[in-house]
Amino acid sequence: MKLAILSRKPSLYSTRRLMKAARDRGHEARVIDPLHCYMSVSTARPAIYYKGEELTGFDAVIPRIGASITFYGTAVLRQFEMLGVYPVNESVAISRARDKLRSLQLLARKGIGLPVTGLAHSPDDIQHVISMVGGAPLVLKLIEGTQGIGVVLAETPKAAESVIDAFLGLKANILIQEYIREARGADIRAFVIGDKVVAAMKRQAREGEFRSNLHRGGSGSIAKLTPEERSTAVRAARVIGLNVAGVDILRSNHGPVVLEVNSSPGLEGIEQVTNRDIAGMIVEFAQKNARANRTRTRGKG
Ligand code: ADP
Repeated sequence: MKLAILSRKPSLYSTRRLMKAARDRGHEARVIDPLHCYMSVSTARPAIYYKGEELTGFDAVIPRIGASITFYGTAVLRQFEMLGVYPVNESVAISRARDKLRSLQLLARKGIGLPVTGLAHSPDDIQHVISMVGGAPLVLKLIEGTQGIGVVLAETPKAAESVIDAFLGLKANILIQEYIREARGADIRAFVIGDKVVAAMKRQAREGEFRSNLHRGGSGSIAKLTPEERSTAVRAARVIGLNVAGVDILRSNHGPVVLEVNSSPGLEGIEQVTNRDIAGMIVEFAQKNARANRTRTRGKG
C-alpha cells in the first residue's frame, strides 16, 4: 500500500510512529506537509502537487492536521478525497470535530451524555445562561481553544460574570458549561479506532488545577472503562464521523459525559501509558479499509 501521512513535521512523535508502523508492515509511506501542497481544482482533472511534483498513486492518507492549519489542511485532504484516495479520517469529520459547538450539537442530537452547556452572544443574556447551566461554579471555554488554553473555572457568580464580560468584550465566542466537580480533576481519554476503544487512560490534573491536559502538567495512568463508557466513546466518534478519534470523557454523577472528540489525537501519551501499538493499529485499519473512492460523505460537505 502507498500511504501518505499528512503532517507538518516528520520529527513529531505521532508522525514518526506512523511512518515506522507503515514501513514495518511493508508499506511505502511518505510524510507530506499539507502547507506545501498546492492544488488544481478542476472538474476534468483535479490534481495535487507537492514541491513541484504531482502526487499520484496513493491508496490511503492518514491526516494529522493540527488545529492551527485546519482550513488549509482539510482543503488538501478534500483534494485527496476527490482523487479517490481513502482517508482514515474524512475532511468533513475533521471540520466537525474542530468546531466545539457544532460537535456538541451533533452529539446532543444523538443522545450522547454531555455537561449542560450554554452559549450566548449578547452580554444582556449572560445572567439567564448562567442560571440555565445551574449557576456557579461553572466552566467557561473559548470555542477556538485547544490543550486547555482558554478553559476557565469560575467559582462564584461574580467571577463568572466578569470573565464572561471580558471574553464577550474581546468578541470571543464562549461556551458556558456546568462544572463536573465529582470528576475531581480527572478525565478519561478513550482512543477509538473503527468501532472499538483500543486504549484508554485516565488523566489527573496536578494539585491545584482542574484541567487534566498532559500539556498542562496532568499525569496519565491506564484506565479500565465501564461498558457504558466504551459505548459512549465509540458512539461519539461515530456521530462525528471519525474512524480514529480521541474521545475525552468526564465521570459525572449522571454517567459519562463527553467533553470533546479529537480528530488528531496524540499518540505519545497514550502509547506510553498503555504500552499499546496504536500507530500499528491505525496503519492496519487503513490497510483493511483502503479502497478507491470510499469516502462516504463525498459531496455532502
Ligand atoms: P481542550 O480542548 O482545550 O483540552 P477541554 O474542554 O477538554 O479543553 O478542557 C480541558 C480540561 O479541563 C479537561 O480535560 C478537563 O480536565 C477539564 N474540564 C473541562 N470542562 C470541564 C467541566 N465542565 N467540568 C470539569 N472539568 C472540566
